[in-house]
Amino acid sequence: MYRTHNCGELTKKDIGKNVMLSGWIKKIRNLGSLLFLDIRDYFGVTQLIFTKKLLNNGFFLGKEFLIKIEGKVVERVSKNYKIPTGEIEILVYKIKILNKSIEIPFSIENNTDGNEEIRMKYRYLDIRRNTIKNNLINRHKLVLEIRNFLSKKGYLEIETPVLVNYTPEGARNFLVPSRKNSGKFYSLHQSPQMFKQLLMIGGIDKYFQIVKCFRDEDSRSDRQIEFTQIDCEMAFVNVNDVLFFFERFIKHILKKIKKINYRQNFTRISYYDAIKIYGTDSPDIRFGMKFIVLNEIVKKNNINFLIEKELTIGIKIKKSDWNIYNTDKKIDIIFSKIKKSNFLWIQYLPNKTFLYSKNCFFNKKILKIFIKYFKSRPGDILVISYGKKINTRTLLSEIRLIIIKNYHFKKNYKKFNPVWITDFPLLSWEEKYKKFKSVHHPFTSPKKEDIHLLNNHPEKTRSNSYDLIINGTEIGSGSIRINNIKTQKKIFQYLGYSSKEIQYKFGFFIKAFEFGTPPHGGIAFGLDRLINILEEDNNIKNFIAFPKNNEGRDLMTNTPSSLVKNIL
Ligand code: ASP
Repeated sequence: MYRTHNCGELTKKDIGKNVMLSGWIKKIRNLGSLLFLDIRDYFGVTQLIFTKKLLNNGFFLGKEFLIKIEGKVVERVSKNYKIPTGEIEILVYKIKILNKSIEIPFSIENNTDGNEEIRMKYRYLDIRRNTIKNNLINRHKLVLEIRNFLSKKGYLEIETPVLVNYTPEGARNFLVPSRKNSGKFYSLHQSPQMFKQLLMIGGIDKYFQIVKCFRDEDSRSDRQIEFTQIDCEMAFVNVNDVLFFFERFIKHILKKIKKINYRQNFTRISYYDAIKIYGTDSPDIRFGMKFIVLNEIVKKNNINFLIEKELTIGIKIKKSDWNIYNTDKKIDIIFSKIKKSNFLWIQYLPNKTFLYSKNCFFNKKILKIFIKYFKSRPGDILVISYGKKINTRTLLSEIRLIIIKNYHFKKNYKKFNPVWITDFPLLSWEEKYKKFKSVHHPFTSPKKEDIHLLNNHPEKTRSNSYDLIINGTEIGSGSIRINNIKTQKKIFQYLGYSSKEIQYKFGFFIKAFEFGTPPHGGIAFGLDRLINILEEDNNIKNFIAFPKNNEGRDLMTNTPSSLVKNIL
């Protein structure tokens, strides 16, 4: 027998009981004749008290030794009300070391001294920390909630193959050689996209799957080469049906997991508007700072050097939202971090004078024109970028994000602000390869009102697609699918596939379309990203038990590795 109780459950009501506990030593305090130990298990921490006599029989105790003790629950003198067991301690009368530990490479505390590399190398020790353990618990709760919600709404969880043929979803595929079919390869699926569509053709009405997907691309704080999707598909739906249902889904999660009653409808912005207003298709809309186009006032006032620019746009950072004591030096330091030219800033001061960046040569009259145009109040800062259309928007979007991430302190902003971005272009032209690329994926349908553009202006055709963005992060992405052979073939052709290739790679898929394909559409959410956003963290690795680093390596198992012949 290892324990009568766990390390998180004994409280004042247990005083007087004889108990047996097992746990890892978290902390040792030696007070001369007495020794205090904290032991930890999955459930919590309990303080132990030993007389030196008990330990005199020569054994050494170190951090992370796993011990089993027997003792009596007594009331603690100096109580710790922060933990459930903080009012008691165990007066130990018997101890056994179950397993020793070598010296630990980093402290197993909420605020550890271990950097990411070392924590990944010894991930099992990292998981002993509350921070990571609780993340895994919260992830589990989220998954359970999702499964229950979708199942109750009639969604059937169905597994689809992971070893598949190449899937055209934009990223590179991982390849797996086949032993039985020499010279042939499987691909690890990038998503169950084609299979979930085939399920719809198979008459399944609503499908979901919580599924690992694999994409050979660079890892980042919000991206892993293997990640988990909440993948969904429904038959007989249009864009509105999908957005309406999954808005309820997200609201349900916010309520159950975060206790947030999100009542309003999610904002919907078309892709084109998102680019125009925020310079990005994944805007963080919690903070305002919409782009204001200045071309007209530049022209009207003949403002030199801006007049010849294709686009001049600006944002206003309100004094009340700005987290910095405003001195020109400080503002300069902030903006000097943005290693780009083609932008300037102006601050309107309470004494009605101006501060501005070194590259701002406007006279007072022009400065006043801008201040008036932006309806600026004393203390507000204007940031103006100029140049070629696309670069100018991207630059201002970057600046906006830097401000949001580092210096914005707007009070009462919503913790979570989901927004649907809709109507992405169907295709984008890739100059390098001289062919089109799907903006979403090749199975996305064109918008009915744009179908006429597909033949002559494919780049202008908008699609029935949507992304869900929460606080500037893409959490989900989906579309209504093509359900007509001719359109599907045309898209493949635009993507550069010859008829032969279409037949070879997608013949089975196109064939299925001949058997009465229902209209259908769906969406996939990134589970790792969703939990990361809900828990207000900024690194999805913290929610994955055994993540890979940004080079796609698992530092603990040393994966990937070279193949050694004689092991094979
Ligand atoms: N398969 C798509 C993706 O992985 C999602 C979808 O269109 O449903 O992004």
